[in-house]
Amino acid sequence: MVVVKFGGTSVGAAAQIDQAARIVYAMRDRKPIVVVSAMGGVTDLLLQAGEAAVTGQTRQREDRLWDIRSRHDQAINGLFKDRSIAVSIQETERIIWEEIQKVFTGISLLREISPRSRDLISSFGERLVVPIFARYLSTLGQETEPVDAREIIITGEESEFLLVDFDETRKRCQKLTKMARAGVIPVVTGFICSTPAGVTTTLGRGGSDYSASIIGSCLKAEEIQIWTDVSGVMTADPRIVPDARVLDRVSYKEAAEMSYFGAKVLHPQTIMPAVDENIPIRIKNTFAPEDPGTLISAETPARQFSVKTVTSITGMALVSVEGRGMIGVPGVAGRVFSTTARQRISVLMFSQGSSEQHISLVVKRPDGEQTVKALRREFEGEIERRRIDRIASISEIAIIALVGEGIKGVPGVAARAFGILGTAGINIMMIAQGSSELNLSIVVREKDSPRAVQLIHEAFELAR
Ligand code: ADP
Ligand code: ASP
Ligand code: MG
Repeated sequence: MVVVKFGGTSVGAAAQIDQAARIVYAMRDRKPIVVVSAMGGVTDLLLQAGEAAVTGQTRQREDRLWDIRSRHDQAINGLFKDRSIAVSIQETERIIWEEIQKVFTGISLLREISPRSRDLISSFGERLVVPIFARYLSTLGQETEPVDAREIIITGEESEFLLVDFDETRKRCQKLTKMARAGVIPVVTGFICSTPAGVTTTLGRGGSDYSASIIGSCLKAEEIQIWTDVSGVMTADPRIVPDARVLDRVSYKEAAEMSYFGAKVLHPQTIMPAVDENIPIRIKNTFAPEDPGTLISAETPARQFSVKTVTSITGMALVSVEGRGMIGVPGVAGRVFSTTARQRISVLMFSQGSSEQHISLVVKRPDGEQTVKALRREFEGEIERRRIDRIASISEIAIIALVGEGIKGVPGVAARAFGILGTAGINIMMIAQGSSELNLSIVVREKDSPRAVQLIHEAFELAR
């Protein structure tokens, strides 16, 4: 069995759905399980419609929903020349649209949107496209069945800090095995899941990759394929570095680090389930299927380059705790961590100067102020006694990450990176090197981030 996931651009309109479905059809003997994302941009439109509903902008709300509806209608009309098939799919879609209208009317009336409602409204993109994809694949001559992942992927009750219940999910995935064995290709909604009580949850933005790896690991698939709009994992984001190059091999560890630090090509949580079952992940281009793509697996590829990729993640805040009186006060770092943990704020980077005068942490920008407030409360006594002089945050921060198994043991990587940024006048605000030595992370101002990525890409000759 092989899990085959198509992202938003790969199912963006009739021509793309046709291309994707033909890719699946061509591999029908490998018992594919298909996972699809919403059409590109549809999840954003749904969330925008939600915001418009909350603020009472009915016109905007209806415009967004209309956009979504016409994109699906156009795809249906483009794909199904047989009117009777088109009409039967329109009917399936109409039932989903009734629910959409009810949900949005509810939000407009209440003028409020909870995380739970946000999950529900963002689930419609995948739910609208799956019946179209499944039906189209069946017109190519292959039996298919649309599957709502809310019946398959089960999570904890909360929509934030979501945990997948792998035992329950594994049991429910047997349904997919049965279909595949019977020669039916399941076409599953990516991104969405539900609690045991049936409340709709999601795996976070970009989460369809994670859906594919959850299903792949539960089924012990031979491979997880992520089909997207680029020919693989690249040395940098091609939108920032036009001459970025596709890598043929990347290790699980490298892929995990780079997705964590901003390589959008994979959702950060995708790797873990695959590692557990040692399932290779292959990134492929829907629009250039003959390209070999990137193979992500446990083996470390033969080391050719110290640094393999450079990624960036923006929208961060740098929080610092400063004070000479911190010297010798035990447990300051521990208290910083327990404070952020209590507030359920995730810390992306942490560093403490050896002089103990300074602790810095990077959190997501929306968490910056809350982190500062919580730390000021925690260290109230120390601030009063002047042991801590200042707790503050700077927003508009980015993390640049240099990733590669080869960084290990190669001296001078950090010095070289700092030298380049220094010469270009880019201020380095914090650095960290993971204990795995796989990743060197550098914090800079957000405005300097693209330039820093380009300079590092060039200096380490990643385009070679
Ligand atoms: P999908 O809708 O198929 O899930 P995404 O837009 O989520 O696609 O991810 C693919 C995009 O990720 C590419 O179009 C590319 O612009 C971006 N990207 C960012 N960093 C990288 C990288 N290091 N390698 C490849 N693509 C990257
Ligand atoms: N449709 C979802 C999103 O836009 C999930 C995905 O594309 O992977 O975030
Ligand atoms: Mg994606």
